Amino acid sequence: MNIYEKLKQEKHKIVITSHRSPDGDAIGSSLAFYHYLIKKGHDVSVIVPDAFPNFISWLSGADKILTYEKDEEKVSELINESTLIFCLDYNDLSRIGNMADVVAKSKAYKAMIDHHLYPSDFCDWKLSDTNSCSTAQLIYTFIENENDLDLIDSNIAEGIYCGIVTDSGSFRFPSVQAKTHLIAADLINRGLNHASVHERLFDVNTLTRLHLLGFSLNEKLRVMNGVPVAVIDLSKEESERFNVKKGDTEGLVNYALSVEGVKMAVFIREDTDRVKMSFRSKGDIAVNEFSGKYFSGGGHKNAAGGMKEDTLENTIAFFEEKVKLFFEEMKE
Ligand code: 5GP
Ligand code: MN
Repeated sequence: MNIYEKLKQEKHKIVITSHRSPDGDAIGSSLAFYHYLIKKGHDVSVIVPDAFPNFISWLSGADKILTYEKDEEKVSELINESTLIFCLDYNDLSRIGNMADVVAKSKAYKAMIDHHLYPSDFCDWKLSDTNSCSTAQLIYTFIENENDLDLIDSNIAEGIYCGIVTDSGSFRFPSVQAKTHLIAADLINRGLNHASVHERLFDVNTLTRLHLLGFSLNEKLRVMNGVPVAVIDLSKEESERFNVKKGDTEGLVNYALSVEGVKMAVFIREDTDRVKMSFRSKGDIAVNEFSGKYFSGGGHKNAAGGMKEDTLENTIAFFEEKVKLFFEEMKE
């Protein structure tokens, strides 16, 4: 049975899940879909593995999102009792951290809506389109497939638009299609206030975040010798000094990538139990492959993430060695 038949079957107990360190697309798609499924008469909860950044907390329904890390018992119960689980913006159970076990064991029908490469086979149904700039765009497609575009209200439109804008670098990445703009146009026709979404997403900063940006660009940004790679790293002590909160470091890596002549950039951040990496690249340099090979990660060709359980110092040295090798191998 496909998901469209499944949804018509009965009033479902639905759990919408998204990935660890949820971003604008994870939260935007989840909340847009939440409002849509409620309108369709279902009982819906949104669950994420850990906290989401403050810059998306204004989205309608954000206050109802449950976090596995904070509410393990309640979240596990909801997952166990659900009849339908949606997996949004992730392609593999490894992306939802400790929540993976509970989701894997649940008997609920599982449906994936995602745009990452190489989706693994843990769902009963999937809408996986790796050419889509965002999962949010696929949420629009889902609603369109259901002939329900007229149900789109400002809550649904804001969620979809937030996901598209954040994952497409404000409509500038190669992943943007003509369809992406047509969807944005349709959302505006349906009453979306796009300027207000942009302002709330991008034009609100804490003073410490701006100081962190200044420090990172002035003191930490460097370009490697011999390879067109720019690096920004941040130690735990530095994160604490700038009172870094979830989302505060988002976008730093793009500054590194914008250095003239640079083709690949990395942001390396020391966490409590691991070192987290954010990769970005231009053109044909596949950072998802690089991250998959050396940093247990993945993502998209020009934007990927990964991690290493080691000290910051060792991770930086390891990265520098492997990235030189990566560029040498590309020349061959
Ligand atoms: P970001 O650098 O913004 O955290 O992530 C960039 C892209 O890489 C996103 O599409 C994200 O889903 C993916 N990504 C980030 N971290 C990981 C990771 O640890 N594993 C995998 N497979 N993908 C990641
Ligand atoms: Mn996404």
